[in-house]
Amino acid sequence: MSDQIQNLIQTDEQCCIHNYGRLPFAFSRGEGARLWDINGKEYLDFLGGIAVVLLGHSHLKITEAITRQAQTLIHTANIFYIEPQVQLAARLSELSGGMRALFCNSGTEANEAAIKLARKYQSKFDAEKVEIISVTDSFHGRTYGALAATAQPKYQQGFGPMPEGFRYVERGNIDALETAISDKTAAVILEPIQGESGVWPLPDEYLQRARQLCDQHKVLLIFDEIQSGMGRTGKFFAHEWAGVKADIISLAKGLANGVPIGAVLATDEVAQAFVPGSHGCTFGGNFLSCAAALATLDVLHDENLMENATQVGAYFIDQLNQWKLQSNAITEVRGRGLMVGVTLAKPIARKVLLAALEEGLVLNAVGDSYLRFLPPLTINNADVDLAMEKLKAALFVVTP
Ligand code: PLP
Repeated sequence: MSDQIQNLIQTDEQCCIHNYGRLPFAFSRGEGARLWDINGKEYLDFLGGIAVVLLGHSHLKITEAITRQAQTLIHTANIFYIEPQVQLAARLSELSGGMRALFCNSGTEANEAAIKLARKYQSKFDAEKVEIISVTDSFHGRTYGALAATAQPKYQQGFGPMPEGFRYVERGNIDALETAISDKTAAVILEPIQGESGVWPLPDEYLQRARQLCDQHKVLLIFDEIQSGMGRTGKFFAHEWAGVKADIISLAKGLANGVPIGAVLATDEVAQAFVPGSHGCTFGGNFLSCAAALATLDVLHDENLMENATQVGAYFIDQLNQWKLQSNAITEVRGRGLMVGVTLAKPIARKVLLAALEEGLVLNAVGDSYLRFLPPLTINNADVDLAMEKLKAALFVVTP
């Protein structure tokens, strides 16, 4: 380990709150799907800042947009009109079939706003209709509302009391959802593909049936597309694959290629529940983040990246499946487009992650047995071949 990284670790030890289990690596430069650490070593980035760096690092169009905007105006306040914010809302409206937008700075804030909006909407009809249903192993964020919706006890432990009015059902079990929905239910929140817990797609039929149940019981359907959206699965929203519509959508992560931003989209009818004063956010939708998001949407379209995610993602999944057949290292490959997860045959995910980093491949380990890949949508088949080579080498190091 170099002196530079050792010094970093030491100062972090002394000065940072230790809420992250950090790996002993630090990057200082990026270009496309490549990263360089502070010692100059090159890595292939199949994590993309956890689904944030949609277009790759240091994309010229994004750098130019941010620079131009920073030289002009970064921030005023939401008590005035903000031109790029209105333009971004119009673009997202086009992409979502006419939904309205509200901006914030992160995924968890987007879900907070989504939950508040759902309850406010339902309160017009029935003050008792407050319950939010989510599914096991979901991840919706770390602030209290989003955390209460996150059906993973480990994240809630020690933080009680949790806000009331949240209920959990088994992932993928439509009967359980049907039983849980009652006249107290305000909304159901679902990730079309669960990301944080290891890439678990909800079947299209499940999403379709969930939509029917919500319609039947006048319950709102919220799709958390924070990780799966922005074209990562080959369509702008992952739930489009199931041919269903949302009442509310939350977005963040890749929306501005790394500049912090979150958004809540809602149908016209649901959006009317918020009136001036209902909700707000100082930084949300400022000039800088919206200029970055507008440029990100331009590049996503101009470089045909959703199509690329479909094609390269299919190739990556195919390569992993072939490897699964040839070796006994992995037992399952899951995902859509460039949101991909595998289950390892042995509980060695962390060891594989560390070995992969040594090989120059950045990925993510989830729990003991899952690996998650969320590369920039700009990668090509040659990048996949190189990642496979490095992954196999890492596994060989761990289990020769
Ligand atoms: N929802 C989903 C599906 C996520 O994957 C995440 C983050 O991983 C969040 C919400 C929370 O987003 P943030 O970390 O930006 O608050």
